Amino acid sequence: MTQVATEKLVRPHGGTLVDRTGPAPDDLADLESLPLTQRELSDLDMIASGALSPLEGFMHRADYESVLDEMHLANGLAWSLPVGFAVDAAPRSERVALADGAGRPVAVLEVEEVYPYDKEREAQAAFRTTDAAHPGVARLYAQKELYLAGRVTVFERPQPEFPELALDPAQTRAHFAERGWRRVVGFQTRNPIHRAHEYLTKTALETVDGLLIHPLVGETKSDDVPVATRVECYRVLVDNYYPGDRVLVSAFPAAMRYAGPREAIWHAICRKNYGCSHFIVGRDHAGVGDYYGTYDAQLIFDEFESHELDIEPMFFEHSFYCRVCGSMASAKTCPHPGDDHVHLSGTKVRELLGQGELPPAEFSRPEVAQILIEAYRT
Ligand SMILES: [Zn+2]
Repeated sequence: MTQVATEKLVRPHGGTLVDRTGPAPDDLADLESLPLTQRELSDLDMIASGALSPLEGFMHRADYESVLDEMHLANGLAWSLPVGFAVDAAPRSERVALADGAGRPVAVLEVEEVYPYDKEREAQAAFRTTDAAHPGVARLYAQKELYLAGRVTVFERPQPEFPELALDPAQTRAHFAERGWRRVVGFQTRNPIHRAHEYLTKTALETVDGLLIHPLVGETKSDDVPVATRVECYRVLVDNYYPGDRVLVSAFPAAMRYAGPREAIWHAICRKNYGCSHFIVGRDHAGVGDYYGTYDAQLIFDEFESHELDIEPMFFEHSFYCRVCGSMASAKTCPHPGDDHVHLSGTKVRELLGQGELPPAEFSRPEVAQILIEAYRT
């Protein structure tokens, strides 16, 4: 890796890649210890690695308010989702330890501000709904009542479930630079990749130097396909159908918020930190149920000046195999009626796989379908 090469990549959000890792303090045992939820742990780790640059800790009230009302940090930088740490009461000291699910201290937070917040207001702004049936809203409503803000220093990173896929932004950037890529498109997914996703990632790759397949491996809904199964699908797909020197598969450690449009912006900003110049936004990106309009996650990009985000969104339609065109296509590129398209509903696909049957090759690569069949069998 050379410094010159990485400088050709898009700059991190705010200009500098944050690194909030560091040694544990000598007085760690004396500090009050506060537990983090899975979502907070995942945010903490992304602050540590610079994936949430320019954030150096959990949000102050000024940033929090500004993000809810204006989709910008208090300093004017574009930012779409709150990143808060909820606590029961103000700590007794100026520094506290932050503990993981097992109660082990993993970071120190310099206590800078404690403030109350209005959960319904946050829900409405971030999720566009106050409905407690929405998984992101439900998690928000279950939070403690105060936000604790301050810079963090993380001395214990979580053990990644897939170590070979765990690349921090500095590492993906180095990887892109080594391969001589300047323009890199990021693809976020929390599903196995079928032909439709393969089509849009390859269509995007035709116009840039490299592709980052960046599956989300943080906390998701329990009915999403398990991470281990998805990772196996990505591997077999890339090994068999993508040129190895143009693609990198790596894990995105974020927890899903299911905030739809605002999360699409947030995902794009994160990918810029990983070194992507372009980001694929499909229909209903990061959506759940019918809380968001099909194109809301694309339209929200118009609310920003392009220089503000400094990562180019690439919008895609629903795609399918058309028998008359003899290729993958979308409503943008195929004039033929639906009868000519190979279309399967998610329910139909699960039904086939559950019975051990391969979906049509025009819908899913057999290698991928085989892995899903095995997964459904167990
Ligand atoms: Zn057609």
